[in-house]
This record gives sequence, structure tokens and C-alpha cells, in this order.
Amino acid sequence: MPKCKYCNQEKPLVKSHIIPRSFFEIKEFNKKAPKKSLSLISDSEDFKPMKRPVGIYDVHLFCSDCENKFMKYDDYAFKLLNEQRENRKTQKDEKGLVVGQYYENFDYQLLKLFFMSILLRAGLSADFFFQRVTLGPFAEVLKEAIDCADAKEPEDFAVFLAYYAQIKRGPVIFPPDMKRIDGINFYFFHIGRVIFYIKVDKRKTPSTLYPIIIKPDSLLFLLEFDLRDSNAYEILKRTVDNPTNSTYFKT
Ligand SMILES: [Zn+2]
Repeated sequence: MPKCKYCNQEKPLVKSHIIPRSFFEIKEFNKKAPKKSLSLISDSEDFKPMKRPVGIYDVHLFCSDCENKFMKYDDYAFKLLNEQRENRKTQKDEKGLVVGQYYENFDYQLLKLFFMSILLRAGLSADFFFQRVTLGPFAEVLKEAIDCADAKEPEDFAVFLAYYAQIKRGPVIFPPDMKRIDGINFYFFHIGRVIFYIKVDKRKTPSTLYPIIIKPDSLLFLLEFDLRDSNAYEILKRTVDNPTNSTYFKT
């Protein structure tokens, strides 16, 4: 029998979704995407919708006991980030330009553990889609935190959120990748309409990011990104143009 990658016990493994299915099965998305497919959708003129089989997210990683540990975090994050999206307020700078959006309140514990658990799940997966995520000793730290329901300090696995200004119609799903910000390592993940960055580095968060990292008893900010200014475009191009990925991406 295979071993669960969380508890290391030989137990029957269940189907898991590294990025919860709910994040790419939201209503508007379903209208556009054919059944049993997952699309990369964007409003940007440069992109056309692409389809890839939804099955790639179904992997056998964990036993049912371990898989169930993630449920309450997945549920909370989906409710906050998707269902309660209308509750966000617009943040403008002194010139009146939109810089992002924010929620007036959120549950730090539940949301932070959601991001930490996605990072862990991606890091333990051998799936092609998550190949860029390697955790080393951080995997054990994350497991322990999830087992103790300990969301840790804002500085530990520091997280900040963003969304793309151009994408109005549907979620975009890119493979997670690493980004160095002022020399500090972050991974970033696209989950439906939101992008989260999570620090996987013992060094301090760059001070410019400190105001927007998620913390208890604070607003929850989402930065507005311009799709063409960020490196998401490069990643998408690289992934789609790579001939080894031709079975995954079909226009
Ligand atoms: Zn297990």
C-alpha cells in the first residue's frame, strides 16, 4: 500500500485537490468552460481561452484523515475570496487611482492556514503542474503548524494577495512559481481570481511589503496588478510554448 505523504502511514489514499476544486468551479467560469475541462481564461487581448483536463488536479497524496485536515480552511477561503467578493472595498491612492481592494475583516488563523496548506500540498505533489514548488525542511514546519492549527506570526510564511485588473470574466490558473522579491523567496499561486504570494525563506519580509502582508486584527488588502506588467505573462507563455506541455494545453 502507498504511504500518505502527510502522516507517512500506509493507508488507502483519497483523491485530493491541491487547489480546491471550488476555486475553479465558480459559476461564471462554468458557463464558459466545456464540461470536464479546466480553462485558462483571461480578458486580455493577448490570450485565448485554453483548456486542460481537470483530472490533473486529482492526485493521490493523502489518506482521508489527513485530507480532511484541510477542509475547514478550504471552505473558509472560498467563502471569503469568492462568495464574499462583493464585500471588498476599493482602495485608492492620493491621486484617486485604484491601487487595490480590501476586506474590513477576516479570520487570520483560518485564512493563513489555508495558504500554508496549499503550499504544503503543492510541495508534496509530484504532479507536473506543481513541479516548481520544492519545500525542503519547510514541509515539516508546515505539517506541524497545520496539526496544531497554528497560523504562526505574520512574518512566518508571510502572505500577501493580489488580483489582475484586466480579468473580469473568469479565473486564471497558472502553475505556481517562485519569485524573488528584494532577494527573498516567495512562491505565488493563482487560485481562481486571486493570486497569493507566500514567503518560503527564513529571512525577513522586505519592508516595502510589510504593510500588505496578512496579519491579525487588520484589513485584508489585495493589490491590483496589471497583467502585462507582471511576470505571469512570461510564465504563461513559457508553459504554453513548451512542447512537452502540448498534451496539457490546447487552444
Ligand atoms: Zn495520512
